Amino acid sequence: MIGIDEAIISAKRVMFRCNKLAKITCMKIGITRLYLSPEHSLVNELVGNWMKKAGMIVRQDEVGNICGRYESKYINSPAIVLGSHLDTVRNAGRYDGILGVLTAIEIVYWLNKNQTRLKLAIEVIGFGDEEGTRFGITLLGSRGLTGTWKKEWLLYTDKDGITISEAMTNFGLDIRKIKDASRNIKDIVAYIEFHIEQGPCLDNENLPLGVVTTIHGARRFNCRFIGQSGHAGTVPMYYRKDALVAFAEWMTFVEHNTCKKHPQLVATVGFLNCKPGATNVIPGEVDFSLDIRGPKDSLLESLSTTLLKEANIIANNRKLSFEFKEYYRTSATVCDIKLQKILFNSIQELQGRCLLLPSGAGHDAIAIAECWPIGMLFIRNHLGISHNPKESINLDDLIISLQAYSYAVNKIINKI
Ligand SMILES: [Zn+2]
Repeated sequence: MIGIDEAIISAKRVMFRCNKLAKITCMKIGITRLYLSPEHSLVNELVGNWMKKAGMIVRQDEVGNICGRYESKYINSPAIVLGSHLDTVRNAGRYDGILGVLTAIEIVYWLNKNQTRLKLAIEVIGFGDEEGTRFGITLLGSRGLTGTWKKEWLLYTDKDGITISEAMTNFGLDIRKIKDASRNIKDIVAYIEFHIEQGPCLDNENLPLGVVTTIHGARRFNCRFIGQSGHAGTVPMYYRKDALVAFAEWMTFVEHNTCKKHPQLVATVGFLNCKPGATNVIPGEVDFSLDIRGPKDSLLESLSTTLLKEANIIANNRKLSFEFKEYYRTSATVCDIKLQKILFNSIQELQGRCLLLPSGAGHDAIAIAECWPIGMLFIRNHLGISHNPKESINLDDLIISLQAYSYAVNKIINKI
């Protein structure tokens, strides 16, 4: 385990490096770093150099992930992979993803400094794309590792009409070699991701660290209530087929019934378009998004059925119509129980008690879990705000995190 003095040095270095990476952005104000962009290239170069300084052999893989390897005491041994992503959403915080890469580099730094080799190799990976900000497809970096890239993705375009294929070529990658980024199952034994919590739970519990049990699955729908637009002055209230009123009735149903099914289920309408959108016209149509997330696929299925059925009932009662289309779904991902226990015990030893919590946000670990056991730990986010420049952590939390993370990695390597 990293000692307290080393952890203080490392925590300060991680903070300094987070600030340094925050300056690599395509925006004048705020942090935005997109997959296969010039900023992606700069970050890979910088992080690659930090990996080298920590004693790793470094390469950029065939989908643009930056990968460092610290050999074990044996030749050709399998590896434990530690990592997260280096891309961001638009106007992001400076810790989301980045922390998982920089803290992992510190673990290797101290092993190398103390000339310690373990019985497994350690690989640190900075994934090039997790957020999907540029091309609308998430987890492109980690899906390179699992070999689950789809050919048709190459034709997806960014907002300027540049395809992934063109962007890869411009970045210096060869699209014919994408498959070479995939890794043999036997070469990796486990994946651990350290990440900032993107909600307020650890802050509310006054704990620096927690262990993730499940990464929530999600369903997304485009929905529409269709009524009848009309004159805002001449149509009496009881003759109206107001699509927005139907939506409002349904929205209160969503609020009251979602967590009744399960306390960890959440449902959000983040987009709403009221048509025709004029002050003096009754809304004839309301288009909106529905995003639901939860810890089990069966719960997601049950909640989506309940909510969509109720929308139909409300529409029928009001002589409107309702339609929807599902356009996205991911399954809930359970973190490996054995890894959860080791992470939990390591944290508990250092901070007295530990919180088990689900992740409502997606992570690289979702893709990795298709091939290897995954474990995740969260560090407290002081405002509980993420995907936002206000995202924050404090130095003391980072110090204890580095100790707990390195302690857990050592234990995992010895027990696995
Ligand atoms: Zn993230």
